Amino acid sequence: MGRLQKILIPFLGLVLAFWFYSARDTFTPEMLRGKRVIVTGASTGIGEQMAYHLARMGSHVLLTARTEAKLQNVVRRCLQLGAASASFVSGSMEDTAFAQHVVREAQTSLGGLDMLILNHVGASYFGFFDGDVEHVRKLLEINFLSYVAMTTSALPMLKESEGSIVVVSSMAGKVGFPFTVPYSATKFALDGFFSSLRQEFTIQSINVSITLCILGFIDTERAVRAAAEVLRERPAPRDECALEILKGAALRRRELYYRYSSTRLPLLLRDCAAELLDYLVRSRYRLPAPPGA
Ligand code: NAP
Repeated sequence: MGRLQKILIPFLGLVLAFWFYSARDTFTPEMLRGKRVIVTGASTGIGEQMAYHLARMGSHVLLTARTEAKLQNVVRRCLQLGAASASFVSGSMEDTAFAQHVVREAQTSLGGLDMLILNHVGASYFGFFDGDVEHVRKLLEINFLSYVAMTTSALPMLKESEGSIVVVSSMAGKVGFPFTVPYSATKFALDGFFSSLRQEFTIQSINVSITLCILGFIDTERAVRAAAEVLRERPAPRDECALEILKGAALRRRELYYRYSSTRLPLLLRDCAAELLDYLVRSRYRLPAPPGA
């Protein structure tokens, strides 16, 4: 009997803990109804799909990217899908003043902000590092500094709403990837900045969540054009990816992995078998035969 109790009580504890955490972790679209959300890089790809999901859930969306004509179409579709409101600001994130301007627009037109989704990404090349330092600097401005600038400007509104920051990153921001050296550097920078900021929020009891999204290969036009020929894996669907990001954000997750099997699982090797992980990353590519082989 004593032994049974020793096994039964911890087992019941585990069952209760599992039930508690799964109940707490259930996503419902109502969580995002009426929320005021900025989505950057929303003219195409994953950002566009996030805008449509948010619209279906009845959020207020403020979208941004450079191409006005595409943003107009996305806004029109968001309104058809049921967005509480939809508008856009067009411009380039190369300019930190523009990044700050987008946040001010949320204050003016939405009266505050519940979620800041940082998703845009500047164009880069797919190939061996070409030594162009200016390109690395420009990409850091677009993919990293503008994220920092928007976060800094949005923080007072997010503190007031106890809102969320969503940072769209990549496997290439957790482990070294060949052929995307400048891009990978900007994504690692995001991890450093936002993971440290999360620590400070905890110390200061600031109730603003930060969700870092670690994505694998997704079937957006740009990614497929750049990598489909050389990558041995099939890209995952962008609409499902967009929905998973929003679920992770609504549940205030610390990190979100999509797809889990091609991101989280390989990353488990990072600390115990880094060279094996590097090998697995390289084996995803169809590499040209070395000269003379
Ligand atoms: P995408 O289809 O190329 O879309 C990029 C978005 O960023 C577009 O809306 C683009 O619009 C905007 N943009 C580009 N340059 C800009 C600039 N200078 N200023 C402002 N906006 C700019 O990209 P995606 O594949 O959806 O990727 C979205 C996010 O997921 C990125 O952060 C990316 O790193 C991450 N991710 C993607 C994959 C993948 O396989 N697709 C994998 C891992 C991580 P305009 O051209 O109109 O400005």
